[in-house]
Amino acid sequence: MNNVSRFYHDMIDRINYDKIIHELKNYDAQLVAVSKLKPIEDIQELFNYGQKIFGENYVQELTEKNNLLSKAEWHFIGHLQTNKVKMISGFISLIHGIDSLKLLEEVNKQAVKAERKLECLLQIHISNEKTKFGFTYDEVEMLLDDSRLSALKNVSIKGLMGMASLTEDHTLIRKEFNSLGNYFRKNKSRGFEILSMGMTNDYKIALDEGSNMVRIGSALFGERSTS
Ligand SMILES: *Cc1c(COP(=O)(O)O)cnc(C)c1O
Repeated sequence: MNNVSRFYHDMIDRINYDKIIHELKNYDAQLVAVSKLKPIEDIQELFNYGQKIFGENYVQELTEKNNLLSKAEWHFIGHLQTNKVKMISGFISLIHGIDSLKLLEEVNKQAVKAERKLECLLQIHISNEKTKFGFTYDEVEMLLDDSRLSALKNVSIKGLMGMASLTEDHTLIRKEFNSLGNYFRKNKSRGFEILSMGMTNDYKIALDEGSNMVRIGSALFGERSTS
């Protein structure tokens, strides 16, 4: 193998990808390949290898990548600012990080304009960190019973998303995922289908606790140098 092709094959971790896909089968769970800050060549390579769903955190970067690879199914997994919804409303497949009614109202408005129904997940704050976005369980209860939500006809709440604390303490991570898993199961009658939880370092715990959609970046694309 010459240097060029060796470099090409180093870009994505096929062994990890195959392993993760195999693990997910046992849980009937889907993989969102988190490609933020990674070049389009790497994404294209994983797409050609069979991965169809990619997750991005930054609107500008996402729109550029969608222009280059519109056949992929793009998920927005970051914190979405109200004024940027219109940049992704025409093509986005799923928005994971909904954390206010105001944002949902804007998503609905842009969905109407785009003549689409936009699928969303409500982000629940489950970690012990103050910096992470999301609803508390009380807040989400109030939202789900709010008539202003049911008036948003072009928005479809498909489920919930959560991020555990960034810690080595697996007991704490499990406790956080367990609480969201329980809440998800209790509220399935509201039409919830998707529970998005788990990243490279905690996805196995998340699957055990009921996740059916994991968002994995570095295990597939390697470490991100900056963020
Ligand atoms: C970056 C990111 C991920 C992926 O993280 P890895 O540790 O690289 O797997 C998952 N979810 C969200 C919301 C992210 O911002």
